Amino acid sequence: MKPILIAALVCLIPTLRAQTKPNILIIVADDLGYNDLGFQGCKDIATPHLDKLAAQGVRCTNGYVNHPFCSPTRAALMTGRYQHRFGHENNPQWLPASTRDGLPLSETTIADALRKQGYKTGHAGKWHLGAHPQFHPLKRGFDECFAALGGGHQYFPAAHNKSEYNLPLDRNGIEEPQKAYLTDQFGDEARAFVERHAGSPWFLYLAFNAPHTPLQAPREEIAKLSRITDPQRRNYAAMIQIMDANIGKVLAKLDSTKQRDNTLIFFISDNGGPLNGKDKSWTDNSPLRGGKGDVHEGGVRVPFLVSWPAKLKPGTYNQPVIAHDLHATAIAQSGGTVSTGRQLDGANLIPHLTGERGTAPHETLFWRAGGPGGKYAVRQGNWKLVRLGKQPAELYDLASDIAETKNLAAEKPEIVGRLVAAIAEWEKGTVAPAFDSPRYQQRKKAADANAKAKAP
Ligand code: CA
Repeated sequence: MKPILIAALVCLIPTLRAQTKPNILIIVADDLGYNDLGFQGCKDIATPHLDKLAAQGVRCTNGYVNHPFCSPTRAALMTGRYQHRFGHENNPQWLPASTRDGLPLSETTIADALRKQGYKTGHAGKWHLGAHPQFHPLKRGFDECFAALGGGHQYFPAAHNKSEYNLPLDRNGIEEPQKAYLTDQFGDEARAFVERHAGSPWFLYLAFNAPHTPLQAPREEIAKLSRITDPQRRNYAAMIQIMDANIGKVLAKLDSTKQRDNTLIFFISDNGGPLNGKDKSWTDNSPLRGGKGDVHEGGVRVPFLVSWPAKLKPGTYNQPVIAHDLHATAIAQSGGTVSTGRQLDGANLIPHLTGERGTAPHETLFWRAGGPGGKYAVRQGNWKLVRLGKQPAELYDLASDIAETKNLAAEKPEIVGRLVAAIAEWEKGTVAPAFDSPRYQQRKKAADANAKAKAP
């Protein structure tokens, strides 16, 4: 299917205007392992609230994010577009003076679009879309924010400084010292937001930094998890359980304020669990191959829930869906469109999830990390092709081999050719990364220093 164009969204408007607009809640976890929630099959971490949300909603079993690490996935979710179209392919460095390192101002965010539709828009949690004031949530369509503006944050209150993980929190553009365990603060903020705005349509982007490193949880919560022997996993498990409890508090508030039925909720992780170069770490992405940073399934396939009791029957949905669909889905349900004249890639998932449309939302999905010539993946039907730099392409049949263990490239050269050609065609609509990730910068600095030392 060709990417959804503006015209397709415009034609939805007449039918939607007659409907009551749903509230929209997007919950994002950070660096969560594929198999680290109860409803995904996890046995040693208890997530009763997310399990209940899964049981009452639609679990998308082929749910993806647009990137194997943090900020580019968020850029796609915010814009409804492949982030490669506007150069947001790396994590921005924490550079408050840089007008380059962040979500380009040329892009319209989901909050911009929903605000135009009369939504009250709020952000609670990790931002990671640029440090310069021009990239601040209040400049990107949000009416309110309570944010950790960088790519991560310490979890316990401590002395603040100018380093990314020790910054003061930001409430509506004003610095505020951290007062409690961070996941609890974001949960409390979300609960207050949905209560404060009950009665008018609202959009809340609740982006927990949990369970991203640093692995920090209250001692008493860790102590409850003596069944887990690995100390890092025990800590990580406590962080997930606290996130789950906070999601439970927000859902309870939606129930008590009678908003639950008409609230469209999404839950995803922004990428797979980190393996840190090992086969196994404190996260568990099984049965998938690889983890954060990889374009094999472990980097980009994530737990993916959609819940909207007024519209969606509980169940599972098995066609591939991806983070930038959240943008298109939310805006279509708000009765709106995005009038920027720019190509949108996301699909409105609701007619697919209700069964009204039997076709897959996307014929083909693409991933690229590291810029042109870097790591690529493409999925078409059940075929998945992976190409890592100059290495030969790998081909997998995900229907029978979700773990990507059996490379069929030599047996199916015609499919390899078709998918390689699809990447080349897609890539014509992309640009090179506009800024580098901090890690690339560090590597480049080390390489330059090395070269200088070796020079005669
Ligand atoms: Ca992440």
